[in-house]
Amino acid sequence: MVLPIVIYGDPVLRVDCPPVTEVTADIHSLAHDMIETMHDAEGVGLAAPQIGVALQLAVIDVAHAPELQSYCRVDGQEVPVAELMPLVFINPEITFGKAREESTEGCLSFPGLRYQIKRPAQISARLTLLDGRSITLETDGLLARALQHETDHLHGRLFIDRISSADKLTLKRRLREMYEDIEEEEREARRAARAAARQAG
Ligand SMILES: [Zn+2]
Repeated sequence: MVLPIVIYGDPVLRVDCPPVTEVTADIHSLAHDMIETMHDAEGVGLAAPQIGVALQLAVIDVAHAPELQSYCRVDGQEVPVAELMPLVFINPEITFGKAREESTEGCLSFPGLRYQIKRPAQISARLTLLDGRSITLETDGLLARALQHETDHLHGRLFIDRISSADKLTLKRRLREMYEDIEEEEREARRAARAAARQAG
């Protein structure tokens, strides 16, 4: 089931989410819906607070871009990135490499906004999977960036917290434009629904 995505301004996006204590059937079904929601929105990742659930659970899919990682190791063994996708993970703990790199990021809770964000290029992440297994995932590139972006979400941190001071100057205006675009889209959707109802009736 595709779930509605929470837009910036909702307080749930600022919650420091508690860990998942038990991987229940509800968590499985939630993870399944989150994967469907992420694919439907054409996103690379989605964290539980973005669908209004304050828990340390997130999903990522970078299967479309295996070339954007130069390595991907699970418990020390090289694994093709596509084999891990879509990745559902719980209670992540990340250790960061020293080198940092800048790349463009967006976020499903900020439709249309994209920013250059500097982050550590390489990470080692301790993750719990849906089958209860804990793994250590070492990677770089897009997957490392996505893991950091989603883990930030689980602690109430958002990508706009990491933009440059120059971008901060125009953030308010860009957020206002974002809300105006969302309202316009909603008005258009309502107009289309009314027109369809008239035709049907
Ligand atoms: Zn996001």
